[in-house]
Amino acid sequence: MTPVTSFAGKTVALFGLGGSGLATARALVAGGARVVCWDDSAMALDKARRLGLEVQDLGTANWSWFASFVLTPGVPLTHPRPHWTVEKAKAAGVEIIGDIELFCRERAKLAPHAPLIAITGTNGKSTTTALTAHILRTAGKDVQLGGNIGTAILALEPPSSERIHVIEVSSFQIDLAPSLAPTIGVLLNLTPDHLDRHGTMENYAAVKERLVANASIAALSVDDAWCRAIADRLKSRSHHVTRFSGEVAEGFHTVGTRILEGGNSRTGAIWLADVAGIASLRGQHNAQNAIAATSAVRMLHHGLKRELYRAALESWAERKGGGGKLAEVLDRDKAIVEEVFGDLVAKNNPDAWLVRIDMIQHGLSTFPGLPHRMEEVGRNGRVLFINDSKATNADAAEKALLSFRNIFWIAGGKAKEGGIEPLKPLFNRIDKAYLIGAATEEFAGTLGSDVPFERGGTLDVAVAHAAEDAMRSTAPEPIVLLSPACASYDQFPNFEVRGDRFRELVRGLPGVTPTGAAR
Ligand code: ADP
Repeated sequence: MTPVTSFAGKTVALFGLGGSGLATARALVAGGARVVCWDDSAMALDKARRLGLEVQDLGTANWSWFASFVLTPGVPLTHPRPHWTVEKAKAAGVEIIGDIELFCRERAKLAPHAPLIAITGTNGKSTTTALTAHILRTAGKDVQLGGNIGTAILALEPPSSERIHVIEVSSFQIDLAPSLAPTIGVLLNLTPDHLDRHGTMENYAAVKERLVANASIAALSVDDAWCRAIADRLKSRSHHVTRFSGEVAEGFHTVGTRILEGGNSRTGAIWLADVAGIASLRGQHNAQNAIAATSAVRMLHHGLKRELYRAALESWAERKGGGGKLAEVLDRDKAIVEEVFGDLVAKNNPDAWLVRIDMIQHGLSTFPGLPHRMEEVGRNGRVLFINDSKATNADAAEKALLSFRNIFWIAGGKAKEGGIEPLKPLFNRIDKAYLIGAATEEFAGTLGSDVPFERGGTLDVAVAHAAEDAMRSTAPEPIVLLSPACASYDQFPNFEVRGDRFRELVRGLPGVTPTGAAR
């Protein structure tokens, strides 16, 4: 746990008692704060009480007591309309922040130069965050992984200059973390998403931009127009920008399955790694995630040096009485700045974070992947079984369909707007479809006569039939793929339960050998 000491002796209000809310409340209490907790759910309140937390209705509380208001990121800050607690906090002039902000304040206090990689984007955040952490871990570093993935940030070990935090951050979390200034900020991609919570694409992109704009090094994809515009804008403001691309030879990029670090005309590009044959990194989208992770790892020691140089400049500006402009260090003062910088480098040893090229390949090759994202779960002879339950919309299912041929496709559930219409160009990769859940008739209509299909109804039936058909196929590697392009709520509590059930069903089939990481 990272006890939050910046509110010791003060009272903080907290709304939202899910996993990260509870972890935050406990970290604040451990740091000496009084925390007044509330939630809409009676069950969540009970749980908080059982954990010994102080529960009080924030609807009737006196907000002038509160030094700060900690909001869970799942609750609307601005759109479609601010939550009632947000209105109360604003009326009382109480700042509204999230757990990432508390962590950042603790980092500033405890270990201001502790390495921090923060990763955001519309898609691929979890994979890239887990992969970045994995590469660093296999290279022997002390890594804490969390945030929007797995462990809540304040449940992680505290920041220190010998330990790195690799965190996934959603746009909601960035909105609640004004002082988030990572060593490396990664922006993977931007496509319309969560617009109900951000109002417009411009607002959504502006929130994501804040993460990279405040980073010592901004690592950005240039494969979509929104990200490229941000990269250009930051560059024009003299930010240090590292570009990565799966499409063009800019910055960190791919040539076939190889990952290269763009050099200049003198050095040429450096070949860093090859993702060919890495089962957990199949598909063009995962190549992008691999480049993003690689660029974050490779730029880390540069980012740390930039942070230290900035700290040296700041200390110089402070000595000047706070009047000096950082960008205008006088020539005669440069030596002073260099000396402070030298001391900081000696103390913090940023070169300890250099990761050798062979360790990048090793990290990529041993990445186990994340469950439910094109996860290999079993094999029977030539037939491979893939669990892509996380694909809850057509966009995500498209990535899986693009990664395979001769697909025996299990799809359906609670359909999203537009259904599987956008997948039509990929129907030629599907040998047969097995439709389940509420979307069955809608998807049957879209498949029409283009793809043979059957109405499986339930996952059990669909798995059994798809496996039988795939076993009879003469294709070199028939794929039984669960990539539903639908939410799971009509038949399962969530996509994880759906994917777990698929894995269990597959492994219960005669002749199937479990493969993949979750054996
Ligand atoms: P997130 O945490 O952003 O939701 P995940 O890593 O969990 O992302 O991946 C979720 C789904 O998003 C994957 O199953 C895949 O379909 C798609 N995806 C993953 N990486 C990318 C990417 N770089 N670009 C586009 N889509 C991606």
